[in-house]
Amino acid sequence: MLKQLREFDMLVRSIKHEPVFKENIAYKGSSVLTYKPVVRGFCGKIPMTGTTFQQKVKLFFQKIKKKIIEIQGKPFERKIGNATFIFYPKSPVTDNFVKEILEGIETLGLTGKRIIKRQQLKIAVGQKATDVFPDLKGVKPPGWSTGATIDHLPAFRTSDNLLGPDSNSIIGFFEKPMSIKSRARSNAVRHEIGHDADNLWSKIIGKKFSQTEGFVEALGKDIKRLPDSLKKYDKYGKFAPRLEKLLQGSTEDNLTKTGLSETFAEIFAKLNGGSQTEQYLKGFDKFIEKVLPETTAYIDKLLYLTGKR
Ligand SMILES: [Zn+2]
Repeated sequence: MLKQLREFDMLVRSIKHEPVFKENIAYKGSSVLTYKPVVRGFCGKIPMTGTTFQQKVKLFFQKIKKKIIEIQGKPFERKIGNATFIFYPKSPVTDNFVKEILEGIETLGLTGKRIIKRQQLKIAVGQKATDVFPDLKGVKPPGWSTGATIDHLPAFRTSDNLLGPDSNSIIGFFEKPMSIKSRARSNAVRHEIGHDADNLWSKIIGKKFSQTEGFVEALGKDIKRLPDSLKKYDKYGKFAPRLEKLLQGSTEDNLTKTGLSETFAEIFAKLNGGSQTEQYLKGFDKFIEKVLPETTAYIDKLLYLTGKR
């Protein structure tokens, strides 16, 4: 599949003065991964003469879609509760797993329902990431320990799907990831939909909620007090490494975009019933409330305004 991506990129590059369709083939970042296919070379397979650029792009997507279906079996959609699920016959999941994902959505109440609707969100479920996103085979999630692959992730999100430029946002949840951190649970659902709550603001006010002045200021204040609060609330250094991963290199006056959005998603999940980290690091949610009080209060206010609390 990576080979086909390469070919596609070559096709795009070989045609001068034409738009580059890069946006349509790049997956947007997930909690732990930003995937951008790096592609170079020359395309020999797709006819280069006699067809227009658009026809060539269409041909490419037909070809790649056929290949994906060969791997997955024909995916089918089912509306269950508030969400549309996508199932893959060659990568079945148990009813219990679906139930757990649904419970995660349920904990978000009306807010969750609105987010799913506005973001036209679909929930893909499979045993592991490459069953759902076969083109990601061999991709390494940055920030994970060596040897980790995309199949170690319990969840993965994409805004632009390889099946075509018009496809909706898809979040994949996996029942049998290779990770020791076990399968996706309701915590992961809350975290991932938290990202969509954040993204939704881009459509409303032109930027993510996590990038608004108020949010940046709140997190900045908390980070300023962090050395003291860590001494007080994390004497044994149990939680600090995970917090560091969440903040993604943010400092008091230089907050990173991923740090802001990850912190938002995790606190959003916490306030709705439990963060993703809490699933395997008990006590993290209480800790975060102590060390990031301004940020927690700010998101709590947002939930109050959206009718959740
Ligand atoms: Zn995340």
